[in-house]
Amino acid sequence: MILDAETLEHGASLEADLCIVGGGAAGIAIALQFLRGPARVLLVESGQHAPHAASQALYAGEVVDPALHSPPDTYRQRQFGGSTTLWGGRCIPLDPVDFRARPWMPHSGWPIGPETLAPWYPAANMLCEAGEFDYSASSAMPGGMRPMIGGFAPRDFSADGIERFSLPTNFAARYSHRLAASESLRVLLGANCTAIEPAPEGGRVRRLLLRTLTGREASVSAAQVVLATGGLETPRLLLASRGPGHEDGVGNARGLVGRYYMCHIAGTSGRLRLDLPREMVQPGYEVAGDGTYIRRRLHLTEAAQEKHGVGNAVMRLHFPRIPDPAHGSSVLSGLYLARRLLPYEYRKRLAGPEGMEFRTTLRHLRNLASDPFSATDFAWTMLRKRRLAERKFPSVIVRPPGNVYSIDFHGEQEPNPASRVTLAEASDALGMPRLRVDWRWTEGDIRTAQVSFRLLAEELARWGKGSLEADPEEIAYDMLRDGAYGGHHIGTTRMGATPATGVVDADCRVHGMANLWIASAAVFPTSSQANPTLTVVALALRLAARLKQDMAAMPAGTGPDLKVAGQPGG
Ligand SMILES: Cc1cc2nc3c(=O)[nH]c(=O)nc-3n(C[C@H](O)[C@H](O)[C@H](O)COP(=O)(O)OP(=O)(O)OC[C@H]3O[C@@H](n4cnc5c(N)ncnc54)[C@H](O)[C@@H]3O)c2cc1C
Repeated sequence: MILDAETLEHGASLEADLCIVGGGAAGIAIALQFLRGPARVLLVESGQHAPHAASQALYAGEVVDPALHSPPDTYRQRQFGGSTTLWGGRCIPLDPVDFRARPWMPHSGWPIGPETLAPWYPAANMLCEAGEFDYSASSAMPGGMRPMIGGFAPRDFSADGIERFSLPTNFAARYSHRLAASESLRVLLGANCTAIEPAPEGGRVRRLLLRTLTGREASVSAAQVVLATGGLETPRLLLASRGPGHEDGVGNARGLVGRYYMCHIAGTSGRLRLDLPREMVQPGYEVAGDGTYIRRRLHLTEAAQEKHGVGNAVMRLHFPRIPDPAHGSSVLSGLYLARRLLPYEYRKRLAGPEGMEFRTTLRHLRNLASDPFSATDFAWTMLRKRRLAERKFPSVIVRPPGNVYSIDFHGEQEPNPASRVTLAEASDALGMPRLRVDWRWTEGDIRTAQVSFRLLAEELARWGKGSLEADPEEIAYDMLRDGAYGGHHIGTTRMGATPATGVVDADCRVHGMANLWIASAAVFPTSSQANPTLTVVALALRLAARLKQDMAAMPAGTGPDLKVAGQPGG
């Protein structure tokens, strides 16, 4: 059943066996595991089915350096479905190296290994609608995939790994009918959790305080509580929740909540020339037998990462930077000129050079006029394959003239305690302190990119059929040009075996809190090269199984005790 919190009696006290806070990918993945059965489950979600400015404004906050990080009310959605209402759908599992305590990377190492997550990935892949859980180019398609660069067999990179693409699935749109049909589960929309109230004796959550945008209040007492509010909102909620023994925030006895905030280091750089016939270069997507778009990339091997003391990283073939009209492509110029039609999150990286707007626009117009038919054809293809198709073509792919590509880099960011989110002085409309984001990068982050480019250049030179020009200073500039890679909010309530090393334990339970759990990329101790959502969902499924097992021992319930005005017990 899906209800609106505005229908609750003011001051209602709700009870549940399990309360999930947040209805994004993580919260919905957990809720789907409780559609039947004795447990009384309540999912409280701040947003509604559609976006609302007043809800989204609750995400606004401060950024210490706006050149390095986008405003916190961008790159995430306070809406039922969370940021899956906006995401790109790229799915990639973590690599074994991500879990290792790597001597060359301070604060690395997960308290679980890849074998712990492996059983949960196939089901996560299914929920993300990314097809079969097969991430190898040699087996994902009958007969194998076409090579990205024909004949190129680098030593320091694996060319076998692929990424798969979700529809991209909006978890609320896709799964809310199942949640609505459940007898044992209630979803409460428009319900903002404003505080976690610890029990006076400490060590557990007593209740959660809820408030709607019109000021209606309620509380929830639940045997188990899962925070699934995303990588930025989870630390905010913990830090804003105080009580005896929790003076610095719930779960924050060691001052770790909000620290180690990571995104990814990403950007396009370099000029890669290939002396090959164009048909031997495959920069784009192929369609797997199950209909999913898949794409190869070059993955820096674990051995190379270890040898050079750098992080995990991948590289893909890319077209030249769209805002630079020197590319001469009518298609790319058309995209630049139409950028205002895109959401902020996709437009941000298309900003032109400052102070040269008029001249730049003129040059783009000239490119467009030089070949309007290609641009029109491209626009029609994108309309058909992206706007109108259910499974959307994942991104723009343009073959640049002359086999000259740039490299699209996506790399791991080191865990750094100084990169953090804290609470600001200002409050939101519900009285909760706003977020203050102080995202930092390290020399190590940039070195991972520079070393990857250098190794690729060396491999190409040895091979003799291509070359890569990439200046280390230019790489550093290109990786930081737009600041943190938006949308991936990682590490702010990290997993650690002990309270000294993590906010949550290996089971994602907050250290020292018997009934408080976290499902989010916030628990990742390291950020990997991989986009986070597939792993967020895998961890959520693992947590759901654990909670189910614990709750199986409980007496059967009758549904959450929701006191809805005019519908007692409804
Ligand atoms: C533009 C963009 C592109 C992306 N592309 C990719 C991609 O290609 N691949 C990938 O893996 N990832 C991608 N991501 C990231 C991906 O969207 C997130 O990793 C994922 O959606 C996180 O899911 P979540 O459930 O942990 O958190 P969220 O999606 O943030 O969900 C949290 C939910 O909690 C609710 N909530 C928040 N606070 C409260 C509160 N106090 N009380 C009640 N409810 C609350 C919110 O409304 C929201 O519904 C992208 C993100 C963006 C912005």
